[in-house]
Amino acid sequence: MASTSASDDTSNDASNGPRKAPARSSGEGERSSEGERRGIIQIFANTLVKLKLKNATIDQPNAADTTTRGKAAIDIQGGGNVEIKVEGNNTLNGYGNSAGIQKNDDVSTGKLTITAQDTDQKLTLKGYDNGAAIGGRNHSYNHYEDAAGTKDIEINNGTIVVDGDFGSKEGNAAGIKITGNAVVDVTGDIRGSYKNYNDDSECTTEIEISGNAQVNVKKIDNNGYIWGGNIGQSSGKNEKITISDNAKVNTEGCIGGSNEDNGSKNGVINISDNATVKAHEGITGRNSTVNISGNANVTVGEGQIGGGSQSTSGGVTISNNAQVNGEFYGIECNLTLKDQAKIEGECTINGNKFNKDQASDGAVLDARINLEDGNIPDHTRQFKENGEWKDVSNRLDGNCNHTEDKTYLSETIPSTCSTPGEKIYRCFYCGSVAKTEPVACLPHTWVKGETVAPTCTQKGYTVYECSVCGQTENKDYTDVIAHTWVKGETVEPTCVAGGYTVYECSVCHATKRGDETEPTGVHTYTEPVKTVAPTYTERGYTVYKCQTCDATEQRDWVPMLERESTNSAPNYTVTGAETYETSVVDGRYIIAVPSEDAALNAVLGDLRAIKAQGADVVVFRTRSRESSLVIDEMLAMGPDATPFVLTHNGSEARLTINGAVHNELIH
Ligand SMILES: [Zn+2]
Ligand SMILES: [Zn+2]
Ligand SMILES: [Zn+2]
Ligand SMILES: [Zn+2]
Repeated sequence: MASTSASDDTSNDASNGPRKAPARSSGEGERSSEGERRGIIQIFANTLVKLKLKNATIDQPNAADTTTRGKAAIDIQGGGNVEIKVEGNNTLNGYGNSAGIQKNDDVSTGKLTITAQDTDQKLTLKGYDNGAAIGGRNHSYNHYEDAAGTKDIEINNGTIVVDGDFGSKEGNAAGIKITGNAVVDVTGDIRGSYKNYNDDSECTTEIEISGNAQVNVKKIDNNGYIWGGNIGQSSGKNEKITISDNAKVNTEGCIGGSNEDNGSKNGVINISDNATVKAHEGITGRNSTVNISGNANVTVGEGQIGGGSQSTSGGVTISNNAQVNGEFYGIECNLTLKDQAKIEGECTINGNKFNKDQASDGAVLDARINLEDGNIPDHTRQFKENGEWKDVSNRLDGNCNHTEDKTYLSETIPSTCSTPGEKIYRCFYCGSVAKTEPVACLPHTWVKGETVAPTCTQKGYTVYECSVCGQTENKDYTDVIAHTWVKGETVEPTCVAGGYTVYECSVCHATKRGDETEPTGVHTYTEPVKTVAPTYTERGYTVYKCQTCDATEQRDWVPMLERESTNSAPNYTVTGAETYETSVVDGRYIIAVPSEDAALNAVLGDLRAIKAQGADVVVFRTRSRESSLVIDEMLAMGPDATPFVLTHNGSEARLTINGAVHNELIH
């Protein structure tokens, strides 16, 4: 939801849109009697006023064109300080000749601070027609005295998009400060300028960019009419531009003022510390003093550094470990190269005004040094070693293999928590990149997020998210919790297997066995599998199998067959039929059995009893077979108690005597 709110010591509020409170805020004490409404939100500050912009849009060209509500989105007046905190995505548009945030130095003498939690918070400021987007207003039609400069504006965090100028088109731009983690993208100029065409003495421009601020200044392309892209004033006298700390500045135009006769004079431009500056059209200003020091790294396109040949004072000093490079740029004013400073990339230097005597070992001079007007000087390269300038021009044009371990750190591309940085080393001899070294990623900035509780299958954890790159990581693991066991079916034990109860987790459905019992060992023999008939020597029985397992048991015993005395009547047994007939014919004892299969069980002594009845041969006759046994042959096979069995199966006959087969005795 879009909102703006302002409060000061007396907790006044201001808002736009359907207004819930008067869009007017004042601190304690008397309001300036000259106070005049110039904005949709009008702040008359005599003490500190704090205003929060949260997803606010102020874009009311019709309301802004009325004298009752003014033309700026926010107009600031009075001697008190104003702090605007940016949250979310905000847009403030100015109309007529007024700025999006307007702070005219004739009525606002306090300081304006724009801040935010981080660079994800965005404020877009738009000027209209000729107006600045933030700063002093332009003159109105035919009323040049309406124009105003601005002063004391600090941006120290957040992303500020300035569509138009930052400062003033027709007046001072003093105390402009961009610092902290601010990112400021300007399409236009950051500048002050003369208020009166005929008098440039009154203009003051002071711009300071420091901290980790990043400032990009692009040209305005208005239907092919291109201008802007500069930091500095287009004219005037008292210009001071300071770029320091880790600031990164990139301009499509110049840094510094004009070189024209009535242009900037005696400006001071200091670039120091670890500042990185790309000024595509140069660092300029007539009679300007340009100091590039510390580890500053300055790149220039096709422009010049310093005031140029028309300067009568000032000059350029490059000192410490500063590096200046680019292509086809020139330094034509007084130039001093000191310490281990480096000039590289085909800079053209006016040799008459050049002093390199204060350079120390490690200084590099890669340039075309112009000693005589009209000449096109040779490209030379020198570096200072053991107190002497050493000419290594022969290493240019690719004639160097950088094998000597003579390199210097040219640029450090900083790492973030998601991207490693890089250190770029150049060869002292030829200036080419000779090697690179990775720079480890910065640590993430973990912010604790949601906590996920453990379950019976997964550990719990807390999600941490990096507030810089958004990467997430799970940490602070906690152990899994116990399953929730629910008792299920119970399996009884058997003769061979143990019993148990099945338990199932009601959460994850894992199962386990519990309450286990031993096998009973008690078989249940119910299934008859074989019956064995008794013989004269063995009992008969039935084999039973366990209904559950393969264990067996023998029971239902049948007594052994009994025989009567061997000296009496034959006592053989015939199996295979209920009845059979015997007869004695011509010395043959015939046993006739009315079946296909039958057996004669006897002992040899039985044959002796048959012989006593007058037979020499025993005939065993079944339906399909007749066998004859010669009694004397049989008696010769052993004592009278020797058992024998004659078996008929259909037409097959088989004789065993005392268990051994003796079919040869079957006739
Ligand atoms: Zn080399
Ligand atoms: Zn990160
Ligand atoms: Zn479970
Ligand atoms: Zn069993």
